[in-house]
Amino acid sequence: MISGKNIIGNKLSKQGDVTYKTFNPKTNKETDFTFYEATSVEINEAVELASEAYKVYKDISGIKKAGFLEAIALEIEALGDELIETYCKESGLPEGRARGERGRTMGQLRAFAALLKEGSWVEAVIEKGQPDREPMPKADIRKMLFPLGPVVVFGASNFPLAFSTAGGDTASALAAGCPVIVKSHPMHSGTGELVSMAIIKAAQQTGMPNGVFSNLNSSGFEVGQQLVKHPKVKAVGFTGSLHGGMALYKLANERDEPIPVFAEMGSINPVVIFPSALEASGQVWATKYASSITMGAGQFCTNPGLVLGIKGEQMDAFAKTLSQEILKLEPTSMLHPNIYGKYTEGKNDLSGQDGVTVIADYTKETSANVARPTILKVSGAKFLANAKLHKEVFGPFSVIVSCKDAAQLEEVLNNLEGQLTGTILGNEKDFATYGNVVDTLQSRVGRILFNGVPTGVEVCSSMVHGGPFPASTDARFTSVGTSAIKRWVRPVSFQDWPNKFLPKALQDENPLGIVRLEEGSYTN
Ligand code: NAP
Repeated sequence: MISGKNIIGNKLSKQGDVTYKTFNPKTNKETDFTFYEATSVEINEAVELASEAYKVYKDISGIKKAGFLEAIALEIEALGDELIETYCKESGLPEGRARGERGRTMGQLRAFAALLKEGSWVEAVIEKGQPDREPMPKADIRKMLFPLGPVVVFGASNFPLAFSTAGGDTASALAAGCPVIVKSHPMHSGTGELVSMAIIKAAQQTGMPNGVFSNLNSSGFEVGQQLVKHPKVKAVGFTGSLHGGMALYKLANERDEPIPVFAEMGSINPVVIFPSALEASGQVWATKYASSITMGAGQFCTNPGLVLGIKGEQMDAFAKTLSQEILKLEPTSMLHPNIYGKYTEGKNDLSGQDGVTVIADYTKETSANVARPTILKVSGAKFLANAKLHKEVFGPFSVIVSCKDAAQLEEVLNNLEGQLTGTILGNEKDFATYGNVVDTLQSRVGRILFNGVPTGVEVCSSMVHGGPFPASTDARFTSVGTSAIKRWVRPVSFQDWPNKFLPKALQDENPLGIVRLEEGSYTN
């Protein structure tokens, strides 16, 4: 049963009387669920509680925190069909996607649990004292990573489970030792409430402090802004629009004590198709890209929104097949009328730009909120002259850019903003022939692919899901994979600290048996 109340640690709360509802984009009607917008008092209560919880939670062992994360995964699974049905109602996404995303969410939690059990992620470095060193004695200095404090998470509209309430941001922050306050996404607050209750149950079962997790409802900006401004909040995780991410980033930097905002924002994920790929398998790539562009109604941050090649008959044939194949696919519903509205506005705007040809536009009748896939084509020169064409259009949409030669292709890439991914379609000889193009693409992206599609982000230790601005606010970090934990910690050095008072990770005996860098060598 969804109560619509705010979840402040172990307590359900509804102190205000402002309410909102979630929306079913498939039926084009509001759901039956009503949510109570969090008040300023509730916001403050959640942060104060998180701050108190931090004092205890930061010192809880990795093994116990791992048990907490594993219990969350089990409790999410135990929500059974109610979770799947609520997810489908609030997102319009199909059941298979809901089940897949639930599996991914549980897998992420378990991956962080494994990281904590192994323990070396704290990056312990030990350099013992040298009292007899000449001309000056050297102090004993030891360093490791420590959690920052309470973290606020803004979940993504396009991943109601894997990038939301118990998604990668929350899982990594809890793993790091930071309590989490989620600003529930107003498009899937019911899904969020169910998952929040699973987290609270898991926290109680495993003896975590009250306030280690809270979930606040809101359909406007005020709750999120108050959370970011609260002096006891120490970091923010965000996935969504450039506009939203930057608003929160600026707010965080205007505080008396600025805090980091790890925002993952827009990306058009350029794909470079070299003549070798057009010749060997242009038609195959066109078919694969038609599915990649339309997957999940194109609502993926890694959606390939820009395909670049060198003009000629083969490039034209590729564009034609891509357009034909994309129109054969049944279009699907978008997440929300607002997202549908922004998609339609964005694609109409770009379709009307100088030199742009619409080469595919789904014109058959559709039901409400169903996104019509669209492909545009433009020359390299026109693309270079109009920065508007770089804009992300979130949905089943892509722009094909036909460049006059490799130099112009390189220039186009040089003028692009930072991206989450970049893809090369070609053969190994192209690395020598088009070395500058490959290098330029790499300088713009967080993940570079060879002969693949960028949609589908593996959750693993080597994943980078981030990229130079504006793909994210800090290209040194990733929001997917176990390295995401590094966003929520800071290094602390202990100088000449008595061994028995050091954290276990730094004690002489290495009681945790973790890999450490000792006097320049890795040991365990
Ligand atoms: P959004 O508008 O950026 O909102 C994301 C979250 O941030 C929401 O909870 C929203 O709160 C909050 N927020 C946004 N602007 C804010 C501000 N100025 N101050 C305080 N809080 C703010 O994204 P969305 O609603 O999830 O989706 C809308 C668009 O974002 C899409 O059409 C797409 O372009 C983009 N998007 C991109 C990605 C990606 O991975 N790159 C993923 C999802 C969405 P409220 O809604 O409660 O106001």
